[in-house]
Parts: sequence; C-alpha cells; structure tokens
Amino acid sequence: MDRLIYLDNAATTRTAKEAVEAMLPYFEENYGNPSSIYGLGSKSKKALMVAREEIAKSIGAKPQEIYFTAGGSESDNWALIATAEAYAFKGKHIITSKIEHHAILHTCEYLQKRGFEVTYLNVDEDGLISLAELERAIRPDTILISVMAANNEIGTIQPVAEIGAIAKAHQVLFHTDAVQAYGHIPINVEECHIDMLSASGHKINGPKGIGFLYIRQGVKSRSFIHGGAQERSRRAGTENVPAIAGFGAAVKKAFDNMESRTAKETELRDYLIERIGSEVPHCKLNGHRDKRLPNNVNFSFEFIEGESLLIMLDMKGICASSGSACTSGSLDPSHVLLAIGLPHEKAHGSLRFTLSEENTKEELEYVVDCVKEIVAKLRSMSPLYEDFCKKSEDTKCTVKR
Ligand SMILES: *Cc1c(COP(=O)(O)O)cnc(C)c1O
Repeated sequence: MDRLIYLDNAATTRTAKEAVEAMLPYFEENYGNPSSIYGLGSKSKKALMVAREEIAKSIGAKPQEIYFTAGGSESDNWALIATAEAYAFKGKHIITSKIEHHAILHTCEYLQKRGFEVTYLNVDEDGLISLAELERAIRPDTILISVMAANNEIGTIQPVAEIGAIAKAHQVLFHTDAVQAYGHIPINVEECHIDMLSASGHKINGPKGIGFLYIRQGVKSRSFIHGGAQERSRRAGTENVPAIAGFGAAVKKAFDNMESRTAKETELRDYLIERIGSEVPHCKLNGHRDKRLPNNVNFSFEFIEGESLLIMLDMKGICASSGSACTSGSLDPSHVLLAIGLPHEKAHGSLRFTLSEENTKEELEYVVDCVKEIVAKLRSMSPLYEDFCKKSEDTKCTVKR
C-alpha cells in the first residue's frame, strides 16, 4: 500500500522541517556542553536561551519559569509529586478529573499510596468537568488542582480560565496538562491563573523526548532530578540541546501560524464529523461538539470492535486510533469514554482521528468511503448487529435475511 493517510496526530506528529533543521547543528558542529565556559559551550547555551524565550512567550510566562523535561509524562509527574511533597505541610488533598492522561492518573495513584488523598472529578456526557463540583471538592487541606486543558481522546476543552479563577480564590495551586492543547488553542498562564503547565515537543511537530514544565515564580517545588545545577538546580542532567533547539523551532512555527492552521483543521474536522455522522448509521460523536480541539474527531460505532476497524483501516493506508488503551496492551475500554457514560461495548467500538494541516479534503473523502465500507462489513459479521436487526424495524440494517 503506497498511500499513507496519517490521522493520529494526538499520538504523535511528523517532525517539522524547521525543527529538524534547527536540531542538526547541535550534533556534529555545536556539540559543546552548555555549562562549559568556552565558546563552543556558549553556542549550546545560546540555543537553550532562544528556545526558552520562544516557549515562555507562547504562554505569557517568563523564561526563568520554563523547565525543560523529557516530555509530557515527566512534566506531569514532576508537577504532581514535587508539589505534593513541597506542600504536604499544608495539606494532603489533591483534586483532578476522571479523564486525565495516565501520566496524571497513575501519578495520583502513586501519591495515594503515600498518604495523599485524591478527588477525581466527574465529567458530563461531553467530557466537561463541573465548576460547581470542583468548588465543592475544595477543602482546607487541598493543595493542588490538576485538570487537563484539552483531552487527548475526545478533544474536549476544559474551562481553564474559570478553573484557574476558582483555584486562585481558594489559594490552591492549579496545574494543567496542556500537552494536547498547547499550540492548538491560545493559553496564557496569567489570564488563566495557571501555576504549572505541562507540554510536550512531539505533539506539536517537535522532536520526541522533550517537553517543558512551566512553574510560576514563587511556587515551591523541589528538584525533580538530583545532580548538577541545570534548570536552576531543579532538573539535573546535561540538557538535550538538539531536542530543545528543535522544540523551540516547532513552537515558533506552531504559534506563528496558529490561526490559519487551526482554521484549516477545523474545516477538515467538521467535514469529517458531518459526513461520518450523517452517512454511517448507529454512530455517535464523542466529546463536545464545539468546545473541542480543532483537529479531533472521535466516534463510537455500535456493534463493532474499534480494534478490528483500526486493522482494516491500516490495510487501506489509514492511521487512526481506537478508544481502548491498546498501547498498554490492555483490553480495558478507555477510562475517558467510560467517564462520559458510554457503556463498555460502545466504548470498545470507538475510533479517533486527529488531523493535521497537511491532510486534504480528498484524503478525508477516501477515509469516509473506507469507514462506511468497513463498518458495514464488520457489522455484517457481527452477531450483535444481527440480533439488533431481527428485533428492530430499522430500514438501515444491512444484514439480509
Ligand atoms: C501525549 C500526552 C502526554 C504524554 O506526553 P509524552 O511527551 O508522550 O510523555 C501527557 N498528557 C497528554 C494529554 C498527552 O496527550
């Protein structure tokens, strides 16, 4: 199959040419250690500075509030664990949501085993948390609220500014996992009262294995990696200079063209939503229709397995993702889809497409054709669907009898 249609940009993205070019000089030419005094080292140091400034500007922060990490997972771990330790004297209660990424949820479980208490906020059928429930969950011993800016599976965008205002009013710290939102929607840490923010390079056309954690000046945090004095002694280890340079270039590109890119993605997204929604029977869009990332499409198809759908799409050259946590080798349906109220069988039959500006309408026409064909084929083999057709008068049933 020579055709490849990549619709899994929430999993990772193609590295932008600008990012690759920005990285190259730091392998063979400017390979100096940024902590060294001589000229060669200072070239690397300069690269860190340029990237840090670019990133700080993108969220309205100061350069000294940006800490480079090895990606979104590390940033999330750091934000939660270091804050929990630094503020344990004040209280041991943390609030998060049921639909966070596992980098947050599993870190919360880790903290629970170490004596912290965690409240997991519910979400409604669109994946939105309730601000009233959040406010009710805050206690005198609450030290941190961690709610993601946008969900990686269903694309729902949380009311980050409102959450920040509530956190501030109650003098509780606010962390947001912005890995999916960063570069796709504008986020200003001042306007939204965000104390900590996680982001990752490879989700915005930067290299893999690099990310950052924004920590507001004045927020107590301890060193996350112990060793040298890098990252103001909070994250030791010689900096990944090429990746940081590439990340900086990707950030610049993402923010320079954010408006035109997201307008194009939104148009493609809406085209796919409209066509699948109207042409494939028994399917449902997951996530909020409008408060949604510009590139996210997530559907549940009744009577079929998302995994089978994925494999058959792959045979047609289409890369997508399903709603189960297949990456972890588990067959459990997605905790996000269960949290928005889907029953197990519907959660299993779900499919996520995450677009980029490189996709075309012509590609999506092909995708719609393939989805229609594959869904019909899988249903024709499904005993569940046969049962349904026998019982219902549904004229759309494709099972012949
Ligand atoms: C991808 C992702 C992460 C993890 O980022 P890595 O850089 O892959 O470690 C964390 N949170 C969300 C919401 C993500 O989508």
